[in-house]
Amino acid sequence: MIFIINHTLRKNIQNMFIILHKYIKNINIHINYYHLTFKSVAEKYYCRTCKGERNHLILFQKNIIPTAEEAFETLSFIDKYLVIECLGCGCISFLNIYGDESMIREDPYGEPEHYEEKHIFPQETPGCEMLVYKHLLPEKIKSIYSETIDALNASCFLLAAGGFRAIIEAICNDLSVVGKSLSIKIDKLKTSGYLSAKESARLHSIRFVGNDSLHEIQTPKLRQLQIVLQIVNHLITNLYIQDRIIENNLDVLVVDYQKFTKLLNKVFSSEIIGAKKTLVNFLGKSNRLLDDLTPFELQLQQDIASGTYPHLSDTGTLENNKKVYEIISIPDLFSFEF
Ligand SMILES: [Zn+2]
Repeated sequence: MIFIINHTLRKNIQNMFIILHKYIKNINIHINYYHLTFKSVAEKYYCRTCKGERNHLILFQKNIIPTAEEAFETLSFIDKYLVIECLGCGCISFLNIYGDESMIREDPYGEPEHYEEKHIFPQETPGCEMLVYKHLLPEKIKSIYSETIDALNASCFLLAAGGFRAIIEAICNDLSVVGKSLSIKIDKLKTSGYLSAKESARLHSIRFVGNDSLHEIQTPKLRQLQIVLQIVNHLITNLYIQDRIIENNLDVLVVDYQKFTKLLNKVFSSEIIGAKKTLVNFLGKSNRLLDDLTPFELQLQQDIASGTYPHLSDTGTLENNKKVYEIISIPDLFSFEF
C-alpha cells in the first residue's frame, strides 16, 4: 500500500520507521519505509540526462546532525545525504545538502535567513555537456578531454581553462603539427587544411583564456568556459568524429591504402573461397569509391607477394590485361575497431 502524506506527518513516520528499522531487521518494515519515502517528496533538482531542473523523488535519505554537546562546542549543522530519482527520465543521482548556523544571507526583503548548499553527483555544470562520441577520440586527447570536463564540473575553472589549452596541444601532436609555440601550431593547423580561418581565430581565443589562467592566475568566468567548450566540441567533432560516423553509415571516397583494404575485406565477406576475378570485378559497384585503383593495386600486389595480405593469391593469369586473383580466405570482419 502507498500513502500520499504531508511533510510533517511524513517526517514523523520516517523517523518512527528509522528507529524501528534500527532494532527490527524485518524486510516488510524496510519495504514500507521506502514506499513511504518514495511518495512523500518531489522537489526540483538539475537532471544531467534531461539537461534541466526536474522534479525528483527521494529514494533514500540520511541526515547527520551533531549531538547537543558537539553543537555546543562547535557549530550547529545539518548534513543530508540523499539518493534521488528524476521523475522525467528515471535518472538516479546522489544529493548532498549542508547548512550550518554560520550560513546566513539576506532574503529579498533584507531580512536575515539561513541557507543550505546543495551538490549533485555525478556533477555536471549546465551548458557544459560532454561529447556523446568521446570514445572515438585518440586515447591521449580523450584522457585530457575527460579530465578537463571533470575540472569544469567540479568548478575548478582555472584547471579547466588550462585543460582546454592542453586539448589543442594534444590535437596538434596527434596531427603531427609542430611549432615553437601553440600560436604557431594553430596557424599551421589552418595552413595544413585542418581548420578554416574562422576556426583558427576561435582556437587563438582558447589559447588566450588558457594563457591568462595559467600565467596570470586569472580565473575565467563560467560563461567563457561554456563558449570554449562549444568551440572544442565542434573542433573535435569535425576532426575526429564526423568522418567516423559518416564512414559507418554512408559511402565515402577511399583515399588511403588502409581504407582500401578495409573496403576489399568488406567486399570479400560476400564472396566464396576459390572465386577468381580481376580486382575491378571483385569491387563491382564499390569501384566508384576509388579515384584511381592503380596505386592501391600495386601496393596490394606487394602485400600478396610478401604474405602481408593473406586473403588473395595472384593466379598469374590476365583478363582484359588485368591480373586475376583468387580468394584463399575470407577476412574476419569482427573487430572492436570503430
Ligand atoms: Zn531526467
